[in-house]
Amino acid sequence: MEKMDWDTLELACKSCTQCGLCATRHNVVFGVGNREAKLLFVGEGPGEQEDLQGVPFVGPAGKLLDDMLSIIDLTREDCYIANIVKCRPPRNRDPQQEEQAMCFPYLDNQIDLLDPQIIVCLGRIAAQKLIAPDFRITSQHGNWIHRQDRWYMAMYHPSALLRDVYKRPETFDDLLSLREKLRELGMCKDTGIGYVQRRELGMCKD
Ligand code: SF4
Repeated sequence: MEKMDWDTLELACKSCTQCGLCATRHNVVFGVGNREAKLLFVGEGPGEQEDLQGVPFVGPAGKLLDDMLSIIDLTREDCYIANIVKCRPPRNRDPQQEEQAMCFPYLDNQIDLLDPQIIVCLGRIAAQKLIAPDFRITSQHGNWIHRQDRWYMAMYHPSALLRDVYKRPETFDDLLSLREKLRELGMCKDTGIGYVQRRELGMCKD
């Protein structure tokens, strides 16, 4: 796919019928956030609310992602958020390899335009696409990989944290590690950790 500017890319993506997911979608979920940001979060694909609203990470998982960002002093304006596939897989099944392959050029173009210094994969599907095909989220989340002048890390998808609250303390460690990396790269606002908030979110070990 020929590389496009933001507006052309968004228009092309929103009228895309290149894979079968177009048949059941309500909206194409292109991405949201700051197009100048150097921090990119990538999930696997839209869920029900995202499909209905056309925005990534809304509903309970989106609320949790916002809370996770806020405990390291970030907002959606500090980052960009996108998915591996832009249309909702039926019944929230994993996007198939063929669907991921058809859709990936859109994300690849978004990455080119953003040129992020850090990419955080949210969940196994994004990590296997962007970091390594055999990536194991349970054992490799929180590990940093430096590749072609860019840092990659994966953490649990917020939906997984809603299903299993016992994963939250590990995710808090990953968030701290992200904040440390932001600081190392001079990208940190660093106004302190919201202790009460992380306790409410079940992200404390003590
Ligand atoms: S998932 Fe991607 S490739 Fe498939 S129809 Fe939607 S935008 Fe096009």
